[in-house]
Amino acid sequence: MNILIENCLVLPMTAGAGEAQYFRATVGIAEGRIRMIDRDGSRTESFCRQWGADMQVIDGQGKLLMPGLINVHTHVAMTLMRGFADDLPLMPWLNDKIWPFEAKIDRDDVALGARLGIAEMLLSGTTTFVDMYWYEEAVAEIARETGIRAVLSPCFVDSRMEAFEKDLPATLERAAGCDRLTVRVAPHAPYSCSKENILRGVELCHRYGIGMHTHLAETQAEMEQVRKLHGLSPIRYFDQLGVFDLPTIAAHCVWVDDDDIAILRDKGVSAAHNPQSNMKLSSGVSPVERLLQNGVNVGIGTDGTSSNNDLDMWEEMRSCAFLQKLADNDPCTLPAYEVLKMATVNGAKAIGMEGELGVVEEGAIADVILIDIEKTHFYPRHNLVANLLYCGKAADVDTVIVDGRILVAGGKIVGVDLPALYAAMEKRVAEILRR
Ligand SMILES: [Zn+2]
Repeated sequence: MNILIENCLVLPMTAGAGEAQYFRATVGIAEGRIRMIDRDGSRTESFCRQWGADMQVIDGQGKLLMPGLINVHTHVAMTLMRGFADDLPLMPWLNDKIWPFEAKIDRDDVALGARLGIAEMLLSGTTTFVDMYWYEEAVAEIARETGIRAVLSPCFVDSRMEAFEKDLPATLERAAGCDRLTVRVAPHAPYSCSKENILRGVELCHRYGIGMHTHLAETQAEMEQVRKLHGLSPIRYFDQLGVFDLPTIAAHCVWVDDDDIAILRDKGVSAAHNPQSNMKLSSGVSPVERLLQNGVNVGIGTDGTSSNNDLDMWEEMRSCAFLQKLADNDPCTLPAYEVLKMATVNGAKAIGMEGELGVVEEGAIADVILIDIEKTHFYPRHNLVANLLYCGKAADVDTVIVDGRILVAGGKIVGVDLPALYAAMEKRVAEILRR
């Protein structure tokens, strides 16, 4: 099915810093790519001649077209634990609540958690997510079925190596032949994985030609522990183990010094900034502005729903801006357009798809969203970019297109029975707690 979006505003996200621009155009999508951005009406007729036989027309009046949002760090199946463990520090939160709960869950639980999380992400305009979890093969299955784009990272800690060694090839097999799915290896963190096991992860990445995804420099306790054990900061320790010789996404990067930042830049490591998780778990404030100024690519992630507690990138973007302004004591830090870029352009770069995703451009992959801007909070329009960042909400997302397929239309997710999904989730978590 080809798509013609008539007469919408377009925010292409291709302009440089401080040059945000949007314009009115008719946009044509065919065979999964953006084929036409017609600003003067001169090309729509020929597009329709070429692609019109199997074409859906969307009225773009009152709507803004922009790239789909890219969530660069999450654990989507943790929807199972939403509201289960709150208001605790990281280590007791993990040791006393999350890990005991996770010890009881099986592959089908993860599949159900992923189904709810993916629906939540699509409805709020996220078109790509970078995941890390156990039974990642199950997440791959649901991502494949629902049509979203995903980077799937089977995760290990020392006590789960055996399960990981099975999950990685199973996830690779599940993702094979689907352009929307890629795979990475995820050592959970320097405090939960031995040196030997991290090196095993590096070896597997080289064997399969895939990248890394990890938690790094999240808390002060982690930094002190790694320094005590290995005499290095978490960033230097992972660099020394050869992790950064692979394409790497490092989630958090809160406790970093100038030398760490130089390593991240020189090795092309992308940081995944998770402001709401960092605030909720009191982990600290990542020096995002300093990372960006020093040439480190920084994307935005929600982290899992146990430490957020939702998968809403609009809230995450706004939190990113507000938190950094507060921490830097500088309202000029991270202006609106810069934060929108983090959630689109930088996200695409983090997963090695710069120019293909995160922009509305002819030739780019058609992962785009339409925002309903006929809402009270979008008026007046002094600055539509500022309105989007500071007032935009998940509920404003009208249409979501991934790989040229419409997955959300008129604010409703296509082909998913949400009440049945809610009922299945309630039944399942009651069962898990009884195990
Ligand atoms: Zn995480």
